Amino acid sequence: MLNVPSQSFPAPRSQQRVASGGRSKVPLKQGRSLMDWIRLTKSGKDLTGLKGRLIEVTEEELKKHNKKDDCWICIRGFVYNVSPYMEYHPGGEDELMRAAGSDGTELFDQVHRWVNYESMLKECLVGRMAIKPAVLKDYREEEKKVLNGMLPKSQVTDTLAKEGPSYPSYDWFQTDSLVTIAIYTKQKDINLDSIIVDHQNDSFRAETIIKDCLYLIHIGLSHEVQEDFSVRVVESVGKIEIVLQKKENTSWDFLGHPLKNHNSLIPRKDTGTEIVKPYTPVSGSLLSEFKEPVLPNNKYIYFLIKIYPTGLFTPELDRLQIGDFVSVSSPEGNFKISKFQELEDLFLLAAGTGFTPMVKILNYALTDIPSLRKVKLMFFNKTEDDIIWRSQLEKLAFKDKRLDVEFVLSAPISEWNGKQGHISPALLSEFLKRNLDKSKVLVCICGPVPFTEQGVRLLHDLNFSKNEIHSFTA
Ligand code: NAP
Repeated sequence: MLNVPSQSFPAPRSQQRVASGGRSKVPLKQGRSLMDWIRLTKSGKDLTGLKGRLIEVTEEELKKHNKKDDCWICIRGFVYNVSPYMEYHPGGEDELMRAAGSDGTELFDQVHRWVNYESMLKECLVGRMAIKPAVLKDYREEEKKVLNGMLPKSQVTDTLAKEGPSYPSYDWFQTDSLVTIAIYTKQKDINLDSIIVDHQNDSFRAETIIKDCLYLIHIGLSHEVQEDFSVRVVESVGKIEIVLQKKENTSWDFLGHPLKNHNSLIPRKDTGTEIVKPYTPVSGSLLSEFKEPVLPNNKYIYFLIKIYPTGLFTPELDRLQIGDFVSVSSPEGNFKISKFQELEDLFLLAAGTGFTPMVKILNYALTDIPSLRKVKLMFFNKTEDDIIWRSQLEKLAFKDKRLDVEFVLSAPISEWNGKQGHISPALLSEFLKRNLDKSKVLVCICGPVPFTEQGVRLLHDLNFSKNEIHSFTA
């Protein structure tokens, strides 16, 4: 599709270059703050100039909109009219203009991949990039065919009705270095737990649950990709994006050739898929008075597992009965207990089930580190009901004065008078006060991947060194 110019971004002397203290910003005119932008997007003003109509944008059309007062940018296959946003962009107008009339995905990812542009630029959406016609004709002659863009529904082999508004589909687009496969599930409760992505050599496979079926994308890729890939879900529209990294920065003419059952819906009971998921074992309790039940061998592993009702794996676990079997691997991980040597301040940042690695850390720290002066846990959840082991944590903090616990809720009820919001510089700088100026400190962080990534960035901004941070990643 589109090629991103190989210029460096931000420009070498740009104000947006990362300096040791983080990204610097361009001063904005009065009335051009983020809040002002949100107000403008909610004002009902026609920000695209298309009166709410969404259009298919060809490459030729995109290229024409390359001026400040008429600037369209494509990000991940969607085209936005960013002219109204120019004066609100903290990085300045010139930075935005670098992607004017072209595909800015790669430039955007280099600078602020974590920004939720879909919501920020919702009102500026012009439409999607037009997709080149599919080459595939007869789907059953799999090996001889190539894939290039979205397949018409009628060419799909499936076990459910082929037509119909809710049939999933996919397409792909590329930049110089990335290939993105977008799956449109057409259902809204998709989450990361309902997707399995696997690729070995050139064989790429993605499975996602659609009601009682698995939707399968199974492709022999036309070019080599790197091992690392990322998956993101836009829950509000049921879109999954799998971003692969090209081994070589060449333009792909087609995505690949279809492998067995590609682009089909298969009843889940017929798939026989093996699912492997990492979980961090916890202890039976945070409190020492907890006694393990007496059973032969006296050997236990405790897990704290959140059941995602629409997930692929956890509902199966939930259905297990006493006497059923699951296979468990030997332990994996890279946390070294030596990090605790002579430790004085321990800070724990956990979100949701990201609390699980903190359980054993708390147990160990409070009983086995004589040098320890203070342990502080900041625990992020949506609502009070989501706080795992709240009363045990409160009891433990009451018993052991070295422990402080703070709960932060992102969706509290109005009566909640504790802390609110998401992980942020303000919350962290207040929370992460060392006991003494030069005390030996460790910060452990675990939660949803974007939470952990953002937390680690903020910790670096607050001058915590690499050795002082341990992030748990699933
Ligand atoms: P959750 O309930 O969805 O989220 C917990 C809190 O984190 C909520 O307040 C949520 O805010 C916030 N949050 C979510 N995404 C965020 C983001 N991008 N930036 C800032 N805050 C964000 O969490 P969960 O379902 O329990 O999931 C926990 C995650 O931890 C899972 O992904 C699991 O794989 C991971 N985990 C990893 C390990 C490990 O690596 N060892 C162990 C255990 C768990 P909102 O209300 O706005 O969503």
